[in-house]
Amino acid sequence: MSKHEVYDQLAEHLNSMPIGAPKTPELIEILKILYTKEEADLAVKLPFLPMTVDALVDRTGMAEKMLKPMLDRMAKKGIVFEQLGGDEPMYRLLPTVVGFSETPFWPGKRTPETEKLAVLWRKYARDAFFHEIGGLSETPLVRVIPVQESLSETRKVSPYEKLVEKVKETSYQAVAHCPCRLMREYSGDGKCEHSTENCLHFGSLARYMVANGMARELTVDETLAILKKSNEEGLVHVTGNHQAEIDTICNCCADACIFLTGLLAMGEKNMFARSNFVSQINQETCVECGTCEERCPVKAISLSDGPARVDEDKCIGCGVCFPTCPSESISLAPRPETEQLPVLPPGEMVMKVMAEKGRAFKF
Ligand code: SF4
Ligand code: SF4
Repeated sequence: MSKHEVYDQLAEHLNSMPIGAPKTPELIEILKILYTKEEADLAVKLPFLPMTVDALVDRTGMAEKMLKPMLDRMAKKGIVFEQLGGDEPMYRLLPTVVGFSETPFWPGKRTPETEKLAVLWRKYARDAFFHEIGGLSETPLVRVIPVQESLSETRKVSPYEKLVEKVKETSYQAVAHCPCRLMREYSGDGKCEHSTENCLHFGSLARYMVANGMARELTVDETLAILKKSNEEGLVHVTGNHQAEIDTICNCCADACIFLTGLLAMGEKNMFARSNFVSQINQETCVECGTCEERCPVKAISLSDGPARVDEDKCIGCGVCFPTCPSESISLAPRPETEQLPVLPPGEMVMKVMAEKGRAFKF
């Protein structure tokens, strides 16, 4: 296969995932930076579900002594995922997200390569990738979790408390730098004022990242401290929109993060699922300080008419407006059941997104 053909074929292969990789000149440039021709030749034969080296020898036709070192090298580069912790390592191709759009940025190191990638990814997001994530399917792949202590509802366990329980149940925790904020900074579009080392990962994904120098290991307490600090900074917790064990918690802002900027700047409505809650403001007690209006990441609060008012259609139920209200006038209440979005089992969610995008899953 010619060099030109193999990168085209790789783009096509990557585009068969729930979050795919629509082909544009920027995507091809990104692939050429990340994959040598030899690696791209192998990548088009790799699955998106993990397989042992023996199974991959059968699948690719390569001898183990050639294949295994190449897979290890590609894992180190952040284009192949190595699943550790079992009897033997297993490998799969990394998609765009969670995957090779993030791996070069997770270590938080500015290099000529990450600067070049940042410019390409920012353009690719505007031209094609925002639409790929939030415009081609009704079912969002990620979901907002309201911040700590913001809920006025009476159920015993809040979504945030459930998230904390899920964090405590994870076997391994790690933190990396936020690729969205670093892409913005390295591309020359300006430094985001928020912290960057708050991209939380868990389980086998976290092990892979730490083993390959992309993240640092945390304890559960350190992980919860980062969540708390993110609350204080007014960041929005975003995690997978499914019932599986968590593998990632993003702490997003409207200045840089792909999910919020895709909604706000590009109008892609299904970048993420809002939480099943909505902000409520007691107008009798509001002292019109304007803090909530400033903090709301999606501009759902306005004080143009006196006390603060919430546009319930815009509100994503993140709770960021809640903790800093000086008159304790804000609470989050559950949305009516008819407006609540279900959280599906992971397989069902993936198949639903694939069907909505008209794609067949390639194992
Ligand atoms: S933060 Fe509280 S007091 Fe200030 S405008 Fe918002 S609701 Fe009113
Ligand atoms: S009003 Fe804004 S800050 Fe408050 S919960 Fe809704 S989206 Fe979040």
